[in-house]
Amino acid sequence: MITQNAYLRPHGIFTFSIPALASRFDDGTPYVTCPAAGICAAACYARTGTFSFSQVLAKHRRNLRRILDPEH
Ligand code: SF4
Repeated sequence: MITQNAYLRPHGIFTFSIPALASRFDDGTPYVTCPAAGICAAACYARTGTFSFSQVLAKHRRNLRRILDPEH
């Protein structure tokens, strides 16, 4: 879930991805990750290409779920 890259590692910074905008978890629970989004959503890079692949989206949803509910 959490990764580092060569630039961030020396600073002790970790990264992870979550899904953009809003949708639902597999159990139907809705989520909103960009509550202030507006026109940007129509051209959002994070909602296209590999970000929209089912396995990638599933992974990002698992990351989000773990953040929102660590016990889940
Ligand atoms: S461009 Fe808009 S919809 Fe896309 S991640 Fe940023 S705030 Fe969210």
